Amino acid sequence: MIKIERKDTIKAQLAITDLHNARESGKTYNTENVNAALIEAFHGKCYICENKAATSYQIEHLIPYRGNQNLKYDWQNLFWSCAHCNNIKLDKYEPILDCTKENVEKLIAFRKKGYFGTDEILEFIPLVEDNEAVENTIALLEDAYYGTTPQKKFEARVIRKELRRELSEFKEYVREYQEAENEEEKEDAEILIKKELKDSSAFTAFKRWLIWDNGIYSELEKYIPEN
Ligand SMILES: [Zn+2]
Repeated sequence: MIKIERKDTIKAQLAITDLHNARESGKTYNTENVNAALIEAFHGKCYICENKAATSYQIEHLIPYRGNQNLKYDWQNLFWSCAHCNNIKLDKYEPILDCTKENVEKLIAFRKKGYFGTDEILEFIPLVEDNEAVENTIALLEDAYYGTTPQKKFEARVIRKELRRELSEFKEYVREYQEAENEEEKEDAEILIKKELKDSSAFTAFKRWLIWDNGIYSELEKYIPEN
């Protein structure tokens, strides 16, 4: 999970108009415009697990609406989630961090420890004390990345496999950068690294923390966008 900026784009405006009309007529918020605007805002990735390769995505209400029409049709309350994470979150984990308003990666450290499957552990470390939203968000992240039922444990394994693949690829680019023999090679690696650290990349929180955790890569910190 990273901070995502909800920009005021044409797609967002069309979605807000749809939501207004849907509320007036009591129709569904699940329109083409709302989906298109959410995909644009969240870069097509699940805001919880940051997987971009899931086959099923859904519209998620950050604050469960429980019949509240304001929350149900509020653009600010609609999030883009994979089906796996949406079905884990449901109406639990309240209060939770709003990643469109809070800088999640500065409140939680994301780390993947160990190699080779079984030794591997994903760590979510709170960086502030006594913050209920941070604690609930960490509980949700742990459930999303490890699963809560036999099926969800299987789905979580698939997500972790994708995370592992993305991180090894990223580490390979950093290695190419370090071992570059000339400026041209270094620039080529920098372009790839920069892309991987963008908001639109998959599992960005883990990639950014890999840079923050390793002092030798500090010169790459400039490619992490300021939030
Ligand atoms: Zn997800």
